[in-house]
Amino acid sequence: MNAARVLIDGPSELVFDYSIPDGLPVVAGCRVRVPLRNRDATGTVLAVSDASGLKFKLRPLHSLSDPEPLITPKLLELAHWIAKYYGCSIESVIRVLLPESVRTEQNSAKKRKSAILSSPPDDETLATLERRAPKQFAIVSLLTHSPDHKLALTDLGEGASSAVKALEGKGLVTIVTEDVRRDPEADGTDEILPDSELTLNAEQQSALDAIVGTIKDPEASIRTHLLLGVTGSGKTEVYLQAARMSLDLGKTVLILVPEISLTPQTVRRFRARFAHVQEQVAVLHSNLSQGERFDEWHRIRKGQARIVIGARSAVFAPLPDLGLIIVDEEHENSYKQDQVPRYHGRDVAVLRGHFEKATVVLGSATPSLESFQNTQDGKYRLLRLNERADGQGLPLIRVVDMKLESKKQKGRDTFLSDRLRNAIDQRLERGEQSILFLNRRGFARSLQCPACGHVCTCPHCALALTYHRTDDRLVCHICGHQAIVPKRCPECSDRSIILQGFGTQKVEDVFRKVFPSARVARIDADALRKKHALRDMLNAFRAKKIDLLIGTQMIAKGLHFPNVTLVGILNADIGLHVPDFRAGERVFQLLTQVAGRAGRGDLEGEVIVQTFTPHSPSIQYARHHDFDGFAEQELEMRRQFHFPPFSRCAVLTSRSSHERRAEFTLQTLHRRLSEEPPPGLELGEPLPSPLVKAHGQFRFQLMLRAPSARALTLHVQKALDKTSLPEDVTVVFDMDALSF
Ligand code: ADP
Ligand code: ZN
Repeated sequence: MNAARVLIDGPSELVFDYSIPDGLPVVAGCRVRVPLRNRDATGTVLAVSDASGLKFKLRPLHSLSDPEPLITPKLLELAHWIAKYYGCSIESVIRVLLPESVRTEQNSAKKRKSAILSSPPDDETLATLERRAPKQFAIVSLLTHSPDHKLALTDLGEGASSAVKALEGKGLVTIVTEDVRRDPEADGTDEILPDSELTLNAEQQSALDAIVGTIKDPEASIRTHLLLGVTGSGKTEVYLQAARMSLDLGKTVLILVPEISLTPQTVRRFRARFAHVQEQVAVLHSNLSQGERFDEWHRIRKGQARIVIGARSAVFAPLPDLGLIIVDEEHENSYKQDQVPRYHGRDVAVLRGHFEKATVVLGSATPSLESFQNTQDGKYRLLRLNERADGQGLPLIRVVDMKLESKKQKGRDTFLSDRLRNAIDQRLERGEQSILFLNRRGFARSLQCPACGHVCTCPHCALALTYHRTDDRLVCHICGHQAIVPKRCPECSDRSIILQGFGTQKVEDVFRKVFPSARVARIDADALRKKHALRDMLNAFRAKKIDLLIGTQMIAKGLHFPNVTLVGILNADIGLHVPDFRAGERVFQLLTQVAGRAGRGDLEGEVIVQTFTPHSPSIQYARHHDFDGFAEQELEMRRQFHFPPFSRCAVLTSRSSHERRAEFTLQTLHRRLSEEPPPGLELGEPLPSPLVKAHGQFRFQLMLRAPSARALTLHVQKALDKTSLPEDVTVVFDMDALSF
C-alpha cells in the first residue's frame, strides 16, 4: 500500500499522510481531496511512499481534484532544492509554485455566452422582424455584419438576452457558451503594431548562434550564457530571435523581467514580434487578478501559451518542454524575494535550466559580479555586445565635484551645481526633456565631509560606518567596530562634517523655484502605490507633457524616451557609503543604467554626475563605460575581504517588540553558531540593524560567510533547532542576502 504526504491548503502549512485507495493514480504534484478531522479539505501531494510497513492505519484520501499532477516532477525537484538551499520549508516553496488562485477550486474559468446567426434570414423574415420586433431586427443586422456572424451577448446591448432567446426560438440564432480568457494586458496598452526581425550585426549573430546551439543540444555542458551588452546594443533583438528559434524547435520560452509594472515595454515588444501568435504570449506577475492568474496559469500548463513574460515568481511558470529562459537585467535586486522563501529568481532560473535541460540567457549591461565571476570560472559562457546597434555613441558623462560647489555656494545640502543648472536651462530652451535622478537614501546614514568628501569608514572592513542616533555613535555593520562621531573632519579638519541626505520632495520644491517655467514631476515610492499613477506619469512624460522628471532608482530601469537628452544624477555618493560590500557595484550599475537613458533617440545625450568623491572607482569606471576595469578592481577587493562571489554570505535577523529579547536571542544564536563551525565560517557580531526599529519591532542582525552555501545553511539550521525562541521573537534567515 502507498501513502501520500499531503500539504493541506490554507495558511497554516499542515502536512499529513494519507493512504491512497487502490487504483487511484496519485503521484507527487497531484491535487487531492482529503478528510481533515471532521471536515473535508484540499491539498497538494508532496511525495508518495511505500506505507506497507506502517504499524498504524492511515486515513485514506478521498479523490483526485485534477486528473493530472499540477506540479511536474522537475518543478517539484526544484522546489526541494530551494527549500534546502535557502533553509525554508518545502510548504513555503509550494505556495509560490502553485499560487493561491490556481489552488482554490472556486476560481474556475470564466464563461461567456455568444449568439451566432444560424442561417441568414430571407428578405420576408427580415421585413417582418423590422416591423414587429425592431430589437430582434437590430440584433440580426449586427450579427450579419460581424466576423463569423457571432457576437457576445454582452456586446449586444442592454436587455438583448430576451430578444436573442426569441430569435433562438425562431431558429435564426444559436446561443453558445465558451471559456474566455481574462487577458491581463487587454486594457491600457496602445495598439500593437506587428514588427519583423532585424538583420543582426556580427556580434548579435554570434551571440544568437551560441544560444541556439545549446537549445539544440540538450547535452551541452555549459547551458547558461551571460549576455553582456551595453545599453542599446540590441540585446532584446537577440532575445526575440532566440525565442523564435526555440518555438521553431517546438520548445517554449520564459522571459523574466525585474519588475513587470515598469517593463510593459518588454511585453509590447514580444507581442509585436509574435503578433501572429498573440494568444501564445502569456503574462504572469503579482498584480494579476485571481481570475487572470488562473487563466494564464492554465493556458501555460496546457501548452496554449508558449511564451511567458513575467516577474520573479514566473520562474515557476508550468511551461512544458521548456527550451529557453531569459533573465533580463539579471543584476537587479528585485529578483530576490524579501519574504520566505527568500529565493533569487535569477539563480532559480539557472537551476531550472539545469534540471530541464533548457538554455538560460542572463542579460545585462552591468552584470552582477557573481554572474560575471561564473563566466571566468567556466560555469557560464560570456557573450558580448560591445557596440550600440543603432550606431550611436555612448553618452558623454561629466562628473561635477560637489566639494567645490559647496565651497562656492557656502550652503549645506547643496544639490544643484551651476553646470547642471545651465544644462537644464539649455534643455528647457530647446524643448528637450531631462531626467533628474536622486539616489535612494536607504536607512543607513553615513558621515561625510562636504569640504573634502571624506567618509568615515571601518578600519577592518573598509566599509562606511553607520551613524546610530540612539547612542550617538558610528558602528561597523560587519565587524561591530565602534567609533565616536568626530566634531571635525579627520581628514581636513573642516567643522561642517554632516549626515547626508535629502528627499525627492525637497528636490522637487527647489527645482520648481529655480525653474519656474518648467513642468516638473516627481516619481518615487509614493507614486508606485496608486495603481496606474506610475504608468500615467510615464505616458505623460513620453508625450512630452513633462520637462523635468525627478525620481529614484525606479526610473533607471530599461525605460526608453527618445526626447531625453540630459540625465542628472544629483547625489551619486549616497549609495556608495552604505555599509554594504555591494555598494560600489550598485553605484556603478546605477550610473551606467541611468546614463543609458540619455540620448536613445536621434539626439545626443549628456549625463551629469554630481558627487563629493569624483575619484571613486565606481564613478570613474562608469564614466568611461568600462565594465571590465570595474569588475577587475572590485573583484580584487571582494577576494581580499572574503566577500561574494568568493564566499557565500547570509544574514540572520531577530525581531521583537521587546528590544532586549531580540538582542538576547541573537546573542544566544551567536554563541551556538560559534560552536563546531563549518570550515571557513566567518561569523559576524550581533548588532542592531541599520533600520533598528520598524513596524514596532526591534531588529538585530549578524552576517555569516562561508565557502559553501550548503554548509552554512545547515549550520544555521542546527543552531536554530537547538534554540527555543522566546515568545514574541522571530528569526529570519536570508541566504545570499542582498541587503544588510
Ligand atoms: P538593449 O536591449 O541592448 O538595450 P535594444 O534591443 O533595445 O537594446 O536595441 C536598441 C535599438 O537598436 C532598438 O531601437 C533596436 O530596434 C535597434 N536594433 C537592435 N538590433 C538591431 C540591428 N541588428 N539592426 C538595426 N537596429 C537594431
Ligand atoms: Zn568593520
